[in-house]
Amino acid sequence: MSEIAVTPPISPNHLSIAFDALGLDVFENIPAALYTCDSSGRITMYNKAAVELWGRTPQIGKDLWCGSWKIFHPDGITPMDFDECPMAITLREGRPVTDREIVIERPDGTLRNIHPNPVPLFDKAGNIKGALNMLVDITDKKLADEKLARLAAIVMSSDDAIVSKSLDGIVTSWNDAAERIFGYKSDEMIGQPITKIIPESRLEEEPKLLKQLRQGERVEHFETQRRTKEGKMRDVSLSVSPIRDKFEKVIGASKIARDITDQKINELMLKTISSVSPVALWMTDTNGNNIFVNDTWLTWTGIPLENQKGKGWMDAVIPEDKEDAYEKFKVALSRKENYSTKFRILKNGEQVRWCFTEGSPYFDRNGEFAGYAGSVTDITAMKKLEDRKDDFIKMASHELKTPITSIKGYVQLLQAIYAEMNEEKFKSSRQTVKTSLHTISKQVNKLTRLVSELLDLSRIESGRLELHKKEFDLGDLVEETVQDIRLTTSRHAIIVHNDFEGLINGDKDRIGQVLTNLLANAVKYSPDADHIEIKVSCQANTAIVKIQDFGIGIEPEDQVRIFERFYRVEGKSEQTFPGFGIGLFIANEIVQRHQGTISVESKKGNGSVFTIVLPTNLRSQS
Ligand code: ADP
Repeated sequence: MSEIAVTPPISPNHLSIAFDALGLDVFENIPAALYTCDSSGRITMYNKAAVELWGRTPQIGKDLWCGSWKIFHPDGITPMDFDECPMAITLREGRPVTDREIVIERPDGTLRNIHPNPVPLFDKAGNIKGALNMLVDITDKKLADEKLARLAAIVMSSDDAIVSKSLDGIVTSWNDAAERIFGYKSDEMIGQPITKIIPESRLEEEPKLLKQLRQGERVEHFETQRRTKEGKMRDVSLSVSPIRDKFEKVIGASKIARDITDQKINELMLKTISSVSPVALWMTDTNGNNIFVNDTWLTWTGIPLENQKGKGWMDAVIPEDKEDAYEKFKVALSRKENYSTKFRILKNGEQVRWCFTEGSPYFDRNGEFAGYAGSVTDITAMKKLEDRKDDFIKMASHELKTPITSIKGYVQLLQAIYAEMNEEKFKSSRQTVKTSLHTISKQVNKLTRLVSELLDLSRIESGRLELHKKEFDLGDLVEETVQDIRLTTSRHAIIVHNDFEGLINGDKDRIGQVLTNLLANAVKYSPDADHIEIKVSCQANTAIVKIQDFGIGIEPEDQVRIFERFYRVEGKSEQTFPGFGIGLFIANEIVQRHQGTISVESKKGNGSVFTIVLPTNLRSQS
């Protein structure tokens, strides 16, 4: 049986005395439900309010103990016998019963929770003559209590901190989650100012919040920070609503604080990954409209974020590639298939990048298609290399064809001379034969060099360039190489300064190849100069070879690239020189394999100095 805390404002005992004095009219019209029974329990009197509550009119002198149609225990389900009802107990035991609750059912089926208050009435001799009962309808209060209990349970079990405070910022309630998140127990917070958990740098937020609340405004998802008892900062999202009294006056605030520290960390992680990513990232909605691009894409395109939304990102694609890029995406989107394509993009009206984009459909938690997510890779360098490879193939076939055509011509000439050979003719053709053979030999040498460069390139690319190291005298090698080069040029004097004494450990032929290449370039790219200088010196365990020409020179932006595969300077003056653009790439590779370096200093029009630095204390490796 539940305990009832409701005390009627005037007890039935007092009422009965009052009614005796005031008469039946008052009894009939008083708004409280009242009825009386005689000592045997038969109803002797009831008023209007009682009839209203019961939903029926009892029969005087017939209905026993109670005017209700049906009565139940407080659970509203278990039926209660009428002789068990509080009025019956009062009459039986001659005492008031005020601690019971019953549920009555009206004939129309509605249920009411009732708190009966029967008191016995005695005659002058002290014999029980009947009882007066006042029925208090507590249905609404019960409902309100239940609602409150449900709310309290929700507040208790919430993962979010739920706190209420007065309008001057004093905490009035503090739930379990608030204890968990902020570390303060409720007795450490209730009665205390909420500023206890507000970091100093954010103290000015509170008066602003309170001002909004006083005006009856809600605050939704306000992201801020709060300090725990341990002094740690937590990221929280606050929703604050005004609490009003029954006259709608704002008397305080209820605050829900969601701990978003982990969410913030994840957000930051994602943001960092996405903004430092070397590839551009994007996301669309289900209609293929762009909803996100990362900082990388913003930097590449120079288009502000707000203009990238929807189809705005397409503004970055060059007009020629737009249709293809969009059509391919539309087709993939209609089939929810993976998407990939290449296009060029602009920044400030100039084409800057070749891009390769790939995207895949993504799905939400329920497995529903949610849009596309993808990346864009900058393939400009790859494209340039591809282009250079194409140029290389064109040039290589030209470079190989020229000596072959020349050899073929001279061989045909020699064949013709041979066919008409006799002593006399031979004498007159002697000079032609000599020149032809010399040219054939020169062209064959050139072909041999080109073919070996090609072979070296493929060896380097497949990691099969072998070195056969042994100790040798670098000074001697320089002298030998210079001798060979002198045979190929009559215009240039090659001046050697050799201050190097000692041996280095390396592949003599390969180092010789590097020197030949640099000297051949020095000759090739200084057609108007008359000399080339080569210095060999020694400095702290290193041998240094400097090859200086006084030729066309190299622009700074080309100096950093001439050691790359297929790189040839594209200038008017350079176009006239034959070459593959792989000699320096191979030279650099060979020097690096000797733990050395190769570098260039140059000024356009003023010649170049190529420097090779090789360690002298190398041990034999292969
Ligand atoms: P190539 O066979 O084209 O000469 P290299 O790899 O030897 O190829 O050189 C790459 C490019 O570097 C050349 O095409 C040329 O433009 C530039 N270069 C190399 N050496 C010199 C030099 N001594 N003076 C000016 N330019 C040079």
